[in-house]
Amino acid sequence: METKRPVIKEPKLKRDDLIVVGGAGGFIAGALVRYFQEKGFNRIRAVDKKPIPEWYQRVPGVECMTLDLSSEDNCKRACEGAVEVYNLAADMGGMGFIERFRVECLRSILINTHLIEAAYRAGARRYFFSSSACAYNTQLQQEPKVRALKESDAYPAMAERGYGWEKLMSEIFCQEYWAERGLKSAIARFHNVYGPWGTWDGGREKAPAAICRKVVEAIDSGEHSITIWGDGHQTRSFMFIDDCTKGIDKIMHCDDLIATPINLGSSELVSINELVSKAEKIGGITLKRNYDLNAPRGVAGRNSDNTFIKRVLKWEPSTSLDTGLKKTFDWIKGQYHARKKGKRVVE
Ligand code: NAD
Repeated sequence: METKRPVIKEPKLKRDDLIVVGGAGGFIAGALVRYFQEKGFNRIRAVDKKPIPEWYQRVPGVECMTLDLSSEDNCKRACEGAVEVYNLAADMGGMGFIERFRVECLRSILINTHLIEAAYRAGARRYFFSSSACAYNTQLQQEPKVRALKESDAYPAMAERGYGWEKLMSEIFCQEYWAERGLKSAIARFHNVYGPWGTWDGGREKAPAAICRKVVEAIDSGEHSITIWGDGHQTRSFMFIDDCTKGIDKIMHCDDLIATPINLGSSELVSINELVSKAEKIGGITLKRNYDLNAPRGVAGRNSDNTFIKRVLKWEPSTSLDTGLKKTFDWIKGQYHARKKGKRVVE
């Protein structure tokens, strides 16, 4: 796609420039708000449709707004005075959710459509969109032994039904807002993100959190078995949350990546069986494995080809799965036992 136009240098982002983050009541955007605050930015507006007490993280000193960003008027309110806008709001979840609720996933297109227009009209300098590896052609992902997906593999398009097509179409909005209107957009295709403060129960959780929870449950209940979705041979890569927030910042502020979709994911490929073994090792237990072959399993294999990100940013997500999974396991264990005591937890 032709997106070439001259890049006009802008002033450096100042500490008191307004940063707007959509979806901030959720996992990744909640962590991003914390990341920017820790970097010293002092005007951050966090927006989510969930009531504030249900947000996963609340960062002191940050302006929090409950607004449904699928409405045009709410997007205008959210973007008033914004210098940078990050769209991480979407109705989404793990495989169980996106295979079952395709209409909800598709309707997230309303969020990006209104938010990018509002950002543009508010005079924002940069706009970030959280795309997904689900935008890639599913026909390239039929075997567990996959070739890692490179950015050009999204076309010819045959994205994941519902969720993936919404991502692909929203990417195109970002590209055309740059090509036609000069809004500097950034598009990262996330590959499975995990870590503390992510969904770990309730149906929207992804594989690493679900498996850590199941191991914790098995230890606690004394029933030493685990149910795995699919045959366990399906492969994935998993990116730790700290790499994700750092990567978003790098991609958003790189002029060579304007309107250019780029992978943001780990290239450490594991099968779901291997993931279970790692969680068992952390938990100090071995479980009997039951395979639910009727459960949603997604594509057979998926990995991130990081050639492009390494070339442009001289960086790639590097937290090992062993390190990140241990932190996640410990956090989920804490959540599990807190819930048992009747305390409020992330769900
Ligand atoms: P999440 O579900 O934890 O957070 C998304 C947040 O968006 C939720 O708090 C939700 O309430 C909010 N939201 C939904 N609809 C909204 C609306 N109409 N108005 C305002 N807020 C709304 O998900 P996450 O894991 O933090 O994902 C963030 C983004 O990253 C999403 O765009 C997702 O598609 C993308 N992504 C995530 C992963 C991953 O592994 N977590 C992988 C690929 C892409």
